[in-house]
Amino acid sequence: MKSNKNQGLRLSKEAMQDFGYKVVDAVIEHFETQDKKLPVSNASRLEMDKLFSEDAPENPMPATEVLNFVLENVLTQSNVMTHPKTYAFVPGPSNYISVMSDTLATGFNIFAGGWVGSAGAAGLEISTLNWMLKLFNFPVKKGGGIFTSGGSLANLTALATARKVKCGEDFSKAIIYLSDQAHSSNIKAINILGFKKEQIRVIPTDMEFKFSINKLKNAIARDKIEGLKPFCLIASSGTTNTGTVDPLEELAAICKKENIWLHVDGAFGAAVILSKNGKKLLKGIDKADSLTIDPHKWLFQPYEIGCLLVRDHKCLSGTFTEKPVYLRDIEGNESEINFYDHGIELTRHFRALKFYMSIKTFGLKAFREAIDYNINLAEQVEAELRKSDKWEVVSPATLAIINFRYNPVKENLSEKKIDLINQKIAAKMMASGEALLVTTILLGQVVLRMCLINPRTTLEDVKSTIALCEKFALE
Ligand SMILES: *Cc1c(COP(=O)(O)O)cnc(C)c1O
Repeated sequence: MKSNKNQGLRLSKEAMQDFGYKVVDAVIEHFETQDKKLPVSNASRLEMDKLFSEDAPENPMPATEVLNFVLENVLTQSNVMTHPKTYAFVPGPSNYISVMSDTLATGFNIFAGGWVGSAGAAGLEISTLNWMLKLFNFPVKKGGGIFTSGGSLANLTALATARKVKCGEDFSKAIIYLSDQAHSSNIKAINILGFKKEQIRVIPTDMEFKFSINKLKNAIARDKIEGLKPFCLIASSGTTNTGTVDPLEELAAICKKENIWLHVDGAFGAAVILSKNGKKLLKGIDKADSLTIDPHKWLFQPYEIGCLLVRDHKCLSGTFTEKPVYLRDIEGNESEINFYDHGIELTRHFRALKFYMSIKTFGLKAFREAIDYNINLAEQVEAELRKSDKWEVVSPATLAIINFRYNPVKENLSEKKIDLINQKIAAKMMASGEALLVTTILLGQVVLRMCLINPRTTLEDVKSTIALCEKFALE
């Protein structure tokens, strides 16, 4: 390529094909081998700086060389979130159809901000959001929503909406309630929105890690007496720690009585609506004013796609509509939704496409089966652990999450010693790279946590990891 002539960043057709096929081949190779790789990668800042630190090059180099460098040095330095032995945090099992769909959306560089940008993108987003509304028994005509980059942005979008609807411009006396098990992204959102510490009530959970109704009622009563304005409650449908679903029906009744916006953070667990017992497990979820779902977790989508549903779509447009002069020509009519009026972003990735294409291709049935498989797997793991006198189940299998600790009955170890051993197990596991397994804290105890939402994880995988944990415990 001559550097003195403007090429417009173009490639020849052959060069595009050569590069494109190599990329696709690399992705397919990864899909074929990912389950056999080590799930954990450990690298230091120093090592990465050594690999990557350089000035931006003025001159070109062959695309294949850049690609090979990235395949060898960048993509390998990453935990494999799709791996069957990735148990930590919330895994991202992904699926190939969605990966390629994302490639299409990027390839065509679809602007999914407004109707005039792409009627296809907006129409498909409306249609797939309607699938979601129906699944959760939200009103389809009146309800609405938006795809976001993830659960964090869905929660932020929800809380901004709740504030606008319940408080208008003055939120100086507004109080927001959430449990000590609520996800940290909610507190982050509250801080971003400019609430003061004194406006947040973190309500302790009960022994089952559920929102304590009694403590909540007391807190609301106290705040009202002090002339404050309870305006929003964040419940969890599947906490990240233990998969616990808050008592949604009772919380909804309180919110209704007190004129409080009920936001349900279902980023981890709402997907369970597709399971056999989904409606029962998530009873009351249809009474939420807003609901966060995170398809890049348990709906097997690659990053990034989160989703917010609202009972009344006008709440979103009422919160996020601005009318700048440079967008006046593309406003369109009301039925032709401009998603930039329903959320934070103007320019948006066409996230609905991968969701649409994967559900069309596999059918909802395959998603249901995968989720049921995960729930059963966690229950089988619990049964295995309970068979052994070395392990204590601290929080039983709940929405495919289980927490347990090494605590051999016969040895009668002190709490401090048990904490140390379990911490050691996790550290050795991560150092070995054999499984992505970390600890969390429950009731002041260090426990190992497994989130089993990968449909390719087998009971044998988990058993071999537990055997390795036992080996590490004795080292
Ligand atoms: C993962 C998670 C979030 C944050 O979602 P991101 O997609 O990581 O931004 C919020 N709430 C809960 C309950 C989660 O599990």
